[in-house]
Amino acid sequence: MTLDNGRWLRIPGPTPLHPRVVAAMQREMIPHRGPAMRDLLGRMLAKARQVHRTDDHVFVWPGTGSAGWEAAIVNLLSPGDRVVATVCGDFGERFASLGERFGLSVTRVTVPWGQAVTPEFFAATLGSVGAVKAVFITHNETSTGVTNPLPELARIARDAGGMVIVDAVSSAAGLPLEMDVWGLDWVISGSQKAWMCPPGLMIAGVSARAMDAAAESGYPRFFWDVRSMLKSTAAGSTPSTPPLSLLYAFDAALDVILEEGVEQVWQRHATLGERVREGIAALGLALFADSRFASDTVTAFQPALGMSAAELRELVRADSGIEIAVGQGEFADRVNRIGHMGWTDTPELDATLASLARGVDASLTPKLESARLRA
Ligand SMILES: *Cc1c(COP(=O)(O)O)cnc(C)c1O
Repeated sequence: MTLDNGRWLRIPGPTPLHPRVVAAMQREMIPHRGPAMRDLLGRMLAKARQVHRTDDHVFVWPGTGSAGWEAAIVNLLSPGDRVVATVCGDFGERFASLGERFGLSVTRVTVPWGQAVTPEFFAATLGSVGAVKAVFITHNETSTGVTNPLPELARIARDAGGMVIVDAVSSAAGLPLEMDVWGLDWVISGSQKAWMCPPGLMIAGVSARAMDAAAESGYPRFFWDVRSMLKSTAAGSTPSTPPLSLLYAFDAALDVILEEGVEQVWQRHATLGERVREGIAALGLALFADSRFASDTVTAFQPALGMSAAELRELVRADSGIEIAVGQGEFADRVNRIGHMGWTDTPELDATLASLARGVDASLTPKLESARLRA
């Protein structure tokens, strides 16, 4: 069995490219100052605002998700500012420690990996810290397959007067995300996750309140300065030469998403997430995330007893050519992960589950045999 068009790539990013995205990139360059660029940028950002559900701004920089953390910090904050950060896995920890490198006073709301940050715990921490300038919330923790209850956490943060900075790298265009209704100020994502594009674009939803904060920030910045970005995009261009092929890709991906419908895309991810979790549980493997907060874009689970995550990945690769991921941090070898975001549907996920079943069998057979011999 082979899966075409890169659909064997079942890691949580980069994700398979939609064929229309691939086709869109086969185009010539255009002048990045001129009418063609103005058209491309105008329609692309309008569509990106629709998917972010905002009437404020969406901007696109060359970069990745990690650049998004840095851009948010240097635009919205000043050295010494107090922030609270949710930490329920590797990405939350990276965002929090980046804040420390920039001289912010960071209070972590830490929960064990596999758990979500609950509104009660978050509110209690915010209450004990006092006034905060901003909160960092990981919407979907890709290292553990956990989705934090973002609308509730955002409301608590806003009530406490903090700006809401959201790492939506593995949720935007996959999970429900309502920038305006939920009051989110800076929403970070990267092209290679649910946007079904190649790596290389950092996408940021920016509220009007965040634009005001950018005028007050005490950090020096040039490339990430959202004020220059606003000025240029208003004039139909970007501050520096944009990665045009990636803009063509993102523009095409947005068409695909809007033709399916934003809510239909969310629903498809919910259905597929459920299917993957059921399939894994049916193999007798333990799901890693608290089931109440299980992610619909990435599923983490424990390999069969006595097996390492790298071993299971190798068995699946040898069986079907499908690439699944191992864990991160201290769970690197104790957890496997399957990505199901972006351009993805039932056939390739069922093929992945079937290959996983054969991998688990293959790993158990020698062990059962030696147990029989010992008996
Ligand atoms: C992938 C990911 C990142 C980092 O993105 P890069 O594009 O690799 O820099 C950050 N946060 C989350 C939640 C992610 O899934």
